[in-house]
Amino acid sequence: MSSLAKRVILFVLIAVLTGAAGQNDKSIPIRIIDGTSYIPLFDLVTVMNLSQTYDPVARRGKIMRKEHQAIYLEDCPRMIIDGQLFTAKKPVIRSSNEILIPAELFDPVADAFFDEYDVTRKSDLYLFQETRSDTTQKPVRTPKKNSARYTAVAAEKIGFIILDAGHGGKDPGAIGKGKLYEKNITLSVVKAVGKIIKQKNPSIKIYYTRSDDTFVELGGRTEFANRKITQESGGVFVSIHVNASIVPKMSGFETYFLSQNPTNEDARSTASLENDVVILENPGRRKSYDDVAYTEALMLTTQIQKESRMLADKIQKSMASSNKEFPSRGVKTADFFVLRGSLMPAALVEIGYITNKKESSRLITNEYQSKIANAVAQGVLSFLSSVGKE
Ligand SMILES: [Zn+2]
Repeated sequence: MSSLAKRVILFVLIAVLTGAAGQNDKSIPIRIIDGTSYIPLFDLVTVMNLSQTYDPVARRGKIMRKEHQAIYLEDCPRMIIDGQLFTAKKPVIRSSNEILIPAELFDPVADAFFDEYDVTRKSDLYLFQETRSDTTQKPVRTPKKNSARYTAVAAEKIGFIILDAGHGGKDPGAIGKGKLYEKNITLSVVKAVGKIIKQKNPSIKIYYTRSDDTFVELGGRTEFANRKITQESGGVFVSIHVNASIVPKMSGFETYFLSQNPTNEDARSTASLENDVVILENPGRRKSYDDVAYTEALMLTTQIQKESRMLADKIQKSMASSNKEFPSRGVKTADFFVLRGSLMPAALVEIGYITNKKESSRLITNEYQSKIANAVAQGVLSFLSSVGKE
C-alpha cells in the first residue's frame, strides 16, 4: 500500500474513532525518535496491565497478557510473538532508561494481545477502544488478576524487606583506626534495623543477605533479592555501609539510589570504593559484571527508579531529623553494583565516615548504632506507608 493510501485510511480512521471514543478507552503516547515511531514499554505495561519479566544480563524481556506472550531483545529488530517471529526495520531500543518498541513491532503485538480492543495508531498516540459487546456471541472476557510484577509495586502491598549488611568475611570494607571494620558495624546496624521494623510491623518479612561474618558476592546479594521477589510479591532492598575518605574531616551520612550518573565526584568515589570488592570475587563473576556494565543492563524502569528515589528520600529525611551530631549529606545517585539489576525499590545508606575520628568513635557504640538503626527503620516504614499514595 502506498504511504498516501495509508495516510488516507489513517485519516478516515481517526475521523471515525474520535467520534466514537468510549469510557473504557485507553491511550498510549507515541514517541518519535529520528523519524521512527516507538511505543514506550513502561506505558504499555502500565496502561494495559501487562505482566513482564526482564533478564538484565541477556537484555531480553517478555511481556504477557492472558495466554499471549511477546519476547524482545534490546537493540534487536525482532520479536517473537506467540511463537512467531516478526522482523522490523528498526530495533527495540533503550533511550533515557526507557525501553521503546518500534511501532512496526508493536502492531503485531497489538493484533495478538488485545482481541477485545480496537487498536489504532494516530499521529501521536495509540488508541485502545474496547469493542462494543452488544453481540451476545462475543465471549465474556475475564479481567486480568495478576498485575505486572514490577510495574505495580506501588499499588501492591510490600511484603518483605531485604537488609543487606555491606561487606563481610574476607572483605572488611572500609577500615578505621584500631581494627575497626566496616563489615562489623554494618552487620550490627542491619540486625537492629530488622528488629525495629519487625517490632513495629510484625506482618512484614525480613531477610538478611548475611547474618554473620561471611563473604557474599555483590551479584549474589541482588540475585538473592530478585529470587525473593519471584516467590513473593512486593519487596524493598536496603543496603547499609560505612564511608571512608582520604580527607579526615569528612563526616556525615547520605543515602543513594542507583543511577549511572553520579551526583558528583564524591558520589562517584564512594561508589567505586564500594564496588572495589569485585576484585575479591571469582573471575567468572567479574566477567558478568563487566557484561552487565557494558550493556547498561540496569533494571531501571521509570517506576523502580521513582520508588527508589522515594525510599532514599524517606530514609535520609528520617536520619537527618533524628541526628544532629553529624551533617546530612543528602540523597545522591551513583552506580553501585549491589543496587544494579534490582527488581525492587533499592537504596544504599552510608551511615557515616569511619575515617573521621569523632564519627568513628560514635559508630562503634551500641547507642549510636541503635540511633542510626531507628532512623533507617523509620524511613523504611514511612516509605511503606506512603507507597502507592504518592
Ligand atoms: Zn561499604
